[in-house]
Amino acid sequence: MTSLYPHAYFGNTIIPIEDAKLSVASSAVLYGLSVYTVFPVVMHEGAPYAFRLHDHYERLVRSAKIIGIDTFTPKWTYKRFFEAVCELVRVNEVKERVFVRASVHVDALVPGTRSRGLPTTLSMFIYAATPIVPQEGARIKTSVWRRVPDYVIPSRAKVNGAYVNSVLGKQDALDSGYDDCLFLDDSGHVCELSAANIFMVRRGILITPSHASDILEGINRKTVLEIAHTLNIPIEERTVDLTELYIADEVFACGTSAFIAPIIEIDGRTFEGDNTITTRIRESYEECFNPHGNFGKYMSLLT
Ligand code: PMP
Repeated sequence: MTSLYPHAYFGNTIIPIEDAKLSVASSAVLYGLSVYTVFPVVMHEGAPYAFRLHDHYERLVRSAKIIGIDTFTPKWTYKRFFEAVCELVRVNEVKERVFVRASVHVDALVPGTRSRGLPTTLSMFIYAATPIVPQEGARIKTSVWRRVPDYVIPSRAKVNGAYVNSVLGKQDALDSGYDDCLFLDDSGHVCELSAANIFMVRRGILITPSHASDILEGINRKTVLEIAHTLNIPIEERTVDLTELYIADEVFACGTSAFIAPIIEIDGRTFEGDNTITTRIRESYEECFNPHGNFGKYMSLLT
């Protein structure tokens, strides 16, 4: 089990993690009606920095908007959210790279299946930043489950209830001896992993499914595209067939908890490339976590 830090942010204050609880009668528990994000905090020269915190806050706000949760944004400005993150990191005396999970829970008691005008509680907690797929090379399997389409539960909204889809895909992959699943969308095109976006390299071009392929709009996906642009690597965001992945030169996954993980096998097919582009992107990605490095603009000092 992942190790949790002792203090959580819950409502408007810091409390022991074991006391941060929601009612069994809340919409959050009954319907999975919470939206969330997970972002890294790293230490640099003794000071804590968060990676792309404003982007994470904005995605949380957008997720709430899509679902129709309308009592978070008026209360929680970015300034207030930022101050809560600073306080949480300080009281937990963070000394290493960690993940912070921030969730907005609809905690009205038995209001029925609706979302507007209901009370919300912000929770945040910290846990060890352990990767969800092997960093030296992951083996993935096309899922027997399809990704939830935009017209069923929108993937671009990071809503807890939708993660049952990821659980189904991931468990099916684990049961079959793989590290993670590859979701296809409703029309059979490549989508993403259970909790990471996917990229392939073909003939020197970096290719990833577009935002219209029922993917989460990953913050690390956006970072990889920005890095590739800076490194003058040609980019295509478009529909991707499964068999294109089979014959790609390089494939990798990216996400907060996946980092940049090379994929070495999909459905029993391995790749011939030497991961030149994956390695270049990975090195630049690591530089992003140095606030004084070339890509340091993404880091916010948490004080
Ligand atoms: N897709 C899904 C389904 C995810 O859960 C995640 C993890 N948040 C990602 C992609 C990657 O997103 P990010 O880069 O913002 O962590």
